[in-house]
Amino acid sequence: MTIFARIIAGEIPCHRVYEDAHVLAFLDIGPVSDGHLLVVPKETKAQLHELSDESAAAIGRVLPRLARAVMQATGATAYNILQNNGAAAHQAVMHVHFHIIPKLGSAGLGVGWNPGTLDAARARELVASMQAAL
Ligand code: 5GP
Repeated sequence: MTIFARIIAGEIPCHRVYEDAHVLAFLDIGPVSDGHLLVVPKETKAQLHELSDESAAAIGRVLPRLARAVMQATGATAYNILQNNGAAAHQAVMHVHFHIIPKLGSAGLGVGWNPGTLDAARARELVASMQAAL
């Protein structure tokens, strides 16, 4: 059982900001910036692609409202939504979660971004295989 499953079950306390039938949102214990919020589906799944449509929709329904609350509480006018899947992608807790991380001066998420160039032939291949997978 992950730490987040135990928080959802009420076995471990959290600073709860929001809860409904499908979603729990609480403050991150190691905030990258003031107001760093975690938004977690109650469904016990490790990674985003495993979520049911119902859970995914429930998260999508409340994320913008929670982002507005984070902005209002902290005064942030910029923020990042971060959602890690897999240890190689920096996921530490193997229960789906979305981070809402306000950008407050130099505090907030640092993003490493190394853009390449999209090859046209590769783009056609990718579109075909992704569409076949949907
Ligand atoms: P990940 O790297 O998996 O995307 O992020 C996991 C996040 O969960 C981290 O930001 C970490 O600070 C947070 N976290 C880990 N354990 C706890 C906990 O027991 N309570 C709370 N509120 N946050 C936690």
